[in-house]
Amino acid sequence: MKKLTVLLSVLVLAMGILAAGCGGGDKGDKKAAAPAPAAKEELIVGTEPSFAPFEFPEKDSKEFTGFDMDLIRAIAKEMGYKKCTIKNMGFDALIPAINTGNLDVAIAGFTITEERKQQVIFSQPYYKSGLAFVVRKDVNDVKSFEDLKGKTVAVQLGTTGALYGEKLKEKGTTLKTFNTSDLACMELKNKGADAVISDLPVLQYFLKNGGSEYAKLVGNPLTAEDYGIVISKKKPELAKDVDKALDALRKNGTYDKLYEKWFGKKPEK
Ligand code: GLN
Repeated sequence: MKKLTVLLSVLVLAMGILAAGCGGGDKGDKKAAAPAPAAKEELIVGTEPSFAPFEFPEKDSKEFTGFDMDLIRAIAKEMGYKKCTIKNMGFDALIPAINTGNLDVAIAGFTITEERKQQVIFSQPYYKSGLAFVVRKDVNDVKSFEDLKGKTVAVQLGTTGALYGEKLKEKGTTLKTFNTSDLACMELKNKGADAVISDLPVLQYFLKNGGSEYAKLVGNPLTAEDYGIVISKKKPELAKDVDKALDALRKNGTYDKLYEKWFGKKPEK
């Protein structure tokens, strides 16, 4: 009888432990899980939206669209932000706004340059680009960059294209600088300029979307440049988080999906 009582109590005890292992699991899990990170409210992003297919106004909407816009919205989401607000500024106002803290990040087809690296942190490179130029269709004596001497060239203020254009000035080229890339192309259309120096993917998009009626691409790409997202030197943690989010988006296929959406091909590895 005593033996039976011992056996029974062992059985009851075992069942109790089993029950705790199943039903009680819920309670246990909650206790063990790390506290959910507090959702961050808002990521404030600056851009200059005259740079299709990277950033440009969406048709019939107040929103901006493009590869950069999709990418930064995905990055903000990946980082846990509830909201991603995009502000429109002049290209040359973006780095100062980063440094005064008015923006968290800036994305605007920014080429990673040594000079800019003195002022801000860049994320890891996210797009391979480079400079090129188009000339008006009726300009037939320009076959290479050298032939731009003596011509009128339009560029966008504060860009690598504008810096490159400076090299032509001593060769007798007239350089016209505009606040936006659209205005530089408009000058070409209006015959106020013979050529526009800008980023190759932007010029290709422009030609494909009406520009080829009055402009043509000439010569080979002038440079190889990498785009990066701009972050303040005062926010190294934010820069690390942006890179981590970019890594995650590359791993989970979002980056490739967005690249294919905007450029119709897979990114170069
Ligand atoms: N990639 C060029 C630069 O960084 C042009 C950028 C732009 O016009 N948005 O200067």
